[in-house]
Amino acid sequence: MISSTVMKTGELQAHYGLLLGLIPPWAVVSVDLDLPGKKVVIEVDYPADERVPCPECGRECRIKDHRENRTWRHLDTMQFETLVTCRMPRSDCPEHGVKTIQVPWAGPRSQFTLLFERFAIEILLGARSIKKAQEILGISWDQAQRIQELAVERGLARRTIEGLRYVGVDEKSFGRGQSYVSLMTDIDESRVLDVVPDRDRKAADQLWKALPEAQRSGIAAVAMDMWDSYREAAQEHAPQADIVHDKFHGARYLGKAVDDVRRKEHRELRGHGSKMLTGTKYLWLTNPVNWNDRQHAAFQALKDEGLKVGRAWAIKEAFAQFWDYVYEGAAENFFRRWYFWATHSRLKPMIDAAKTLKRHLSGLLAYLRHRITNAVTEGLNSKIQTLKANARGFRNFEHYRISILFHCGKLELCPLIR
Ligand SMILES: [Zn+2]
Repeated sequence: MISSTVMKTGELQAHYGLLLGLIPPWAVVSVDLDLPGKKVVIEVDYPADERVPCPECGRECRIKDHRENRTWRHLDTMQFETLVTCRMPRSDCPEHGVKTIQVPWAGPRSQFTLLFERFAIEILLGARSIKKAQEILGISWDQAQRIQELAVERGLARRTIEGLRYVGVDEKSFGRGQSYVSLMTDIDESRVLDVVPDRDRKAADQLWKALPEAQRSGIAAVAMDMWDSYREAAQEHAPQADIVHDKFHGARYLGKAVDDVRRKEHRELRGHGSKMLTGTKYLWLTNPVNWNDRQHAAFQALKDEGLKVGRAWAIKEAFAQFWDYVYEGAAENFFRRWYFWATHSRLKPMIDAAKTLKRHLSGLLAYLRHRITNAVTEGLNSKIQTLKANARGFRNFEHYRISILFHCGKLELCPLIR
């Protein structure tokens, strides 16, 4: 290797020493410029006759020995890949024995300096996919993934969740097929608290157990879908918290019921040669406020046809009024009238949906008290959707979880630099 030792005066060493935040007796002993390799290698040393603090107790100890050379990737110098190398000293504590001491420029178990990691985190945040970031940074996919993992670990260790009042528990599809994950979100701060595999009772338990007891007992309400496993877990781990089913959850059941009615009726009509309902799926699912002129015209043409889907739609739309009530008593009266109408509609999907809502009426009424929704989670969901698309699906759960927490956890990801 053609290599030239650039520095003779202490200037360049001192310069790199400052950049790395070195405090004596840590010192840069050489800076090697490898021109053909386009590399700068900075050698750092901790003199053998100095004393070192034991990493366990901080006691000043003599140095036992130095370990073999290790290398960390640092920020490039004028497009030259820059590496820090060092033989790390090992302390010899009378109480704790021989320990490798921590270097000031890198975190434990990292192949990169803190400054490089901080830069890489910014790139990962901006690039939204490991692959893009990895290409910009000139590191391997595994290395970029590892930086992201360490950043999340660091962020979780530093995170404070005091005063947590409202949480959401929600499911999210993962990969192809029928795999799901469950998320817990902090609704006030609109951040994801954790992600676990599956959407069963065990998953819900795991999410709750991840919260410290003091936080669990302070939660006022939990927004969630009308699922027994989510509800039972909340009742066990946060029995004081109200369970809230918001308008999105309610609308999902009613929307699906309307669609079931439409599909069945469409089949029947087609059997008689009528294509009346072709292309109307979204008409019945969206709010008239959002209809375009064509949809308004289509609705006008269909509304007097005495269609079953028209009746189902009217039942669904009428329910929207429920969410505007301020007083629970009045809301309950409204519900009773609506329920009577829905259950006498002779439309099985609507009857079933109405019964589901009735079983969860206390959760629907609790919404009027807390006015929390999983809409925050829904917003995060679209962000997660983008992450998933950018990553072309995730190969394993752990990568998916790390990515969600990295981008949607509002964590302090960057290492502290002295
Ligand atoms: Zn010690």
